[in-house]
Amino acid sequence: MIRRRLLAALAVAATLPLAAWAEAPLKIVATTGMIADAVRQVGGDQVEVKGLMGPGIDPHAYRQTRTDIVAMTRADLVLWHGLYLEAQMEDFFEDLSRKQTVVAVAESVDKSKLRAHDDYADKYDPHIWMSPALWGEVVTEIQATLTEARPESADLFAANAKAHLAELDALTAYAEQSLTAVPEESRVLLTAHDAFGYFGAAYGYEVMGVQGISTQSEAGLNRIGELVDTLVDRQLTAVFVESSVSDRSMRALIEGAAAKGHEVSVGGELFSDAMGVDSTYEGTYVGMLDHNITVIAGALGANVPERGLNGKLSAGF
Ligand code: ZN
Repeated sequence: MIRRRLLAALAVAATLPLAAWAEAPLKIVATTGMIADAVRQVGGDQVEVKGLMGPGIDPHAYRQTRTDIVAMTRADLVLWHGLYLEAQMEDFFEDLSRKQTVVAVAESVDKSKLRAHDDYADKYDPHIWMSPALWGEVVTEIQATLTEARPESADLFAANAKAHLAELDALTAYAEQSLTAVPEESRVLLTAHDAFGYFGAAYGYEVMGVQGISTQSEAGLNRIGELVDTLVDRQLTAVFVESSVSDRSMRALIEGAAAKGHEVSVGGELFSDAMGVDSTYEGTYVGMLDHNITVIAGALGANVPERGLNGKLSAGF
């Protein structure tokens, strides 16, 4: 009798800390807002996510701050994009991976689906979030990573990932429908840097950037002159600015075309490498893509719903 009671007491003592531990969310640090959003979507209440790069931040140029380093050291998991997106943080992550669980989530995507990098023969274009179908592979990788870290929540992560992947499918359908409603000769996307390669390939758009795949090189005068000629020759009337890149080169294009008697305007601001303001629809991956698709299709002549796919865009087209 006494012995049985003692065993029961021991069992209670053993389960208490375990239960408390299981309820504490996994502390996760993610570099880009897009990764942080995917972790929140899949992890639900089992994760506490800190995204390092907020609205308007350029990941090609970003370097970790002291506060970032403290957060990453204390986290259960650190997720970064990889594919040379966070070019200034590569060495840091290599060091960190010796003492911390660090996963480059975009590196899981089948390399045959990746586009070549213009500037480096051995690297790929990292901007895969521009295609919801490719981004779905990253969401699946995040699901696998969270499941490994917390196997008892596997069912929750699977259900959340499935629901989010369905939202990405809806985005793909919306993109195909709106972007192909643009007249064929107008399917040209001219932006500050080459972030839209996957987007162009997925929806049949010609893509031109003043700067290359990275934002780390200055746009030459030759490149500006070349693009002004293209705008004039092909009678293109819209260019797009990006929230995470200076609009200086786009203004130079508009002025250059004007000097040749051709009027070009800004079709809108796109979220290329960073999402919109936190706690807004545009501050989520779905909202970011909805905004881009709606603004591009609308500016180039398609009929689009004023507030986008889900009726939630704050500044409708
Ligand atoms: Zn970029």
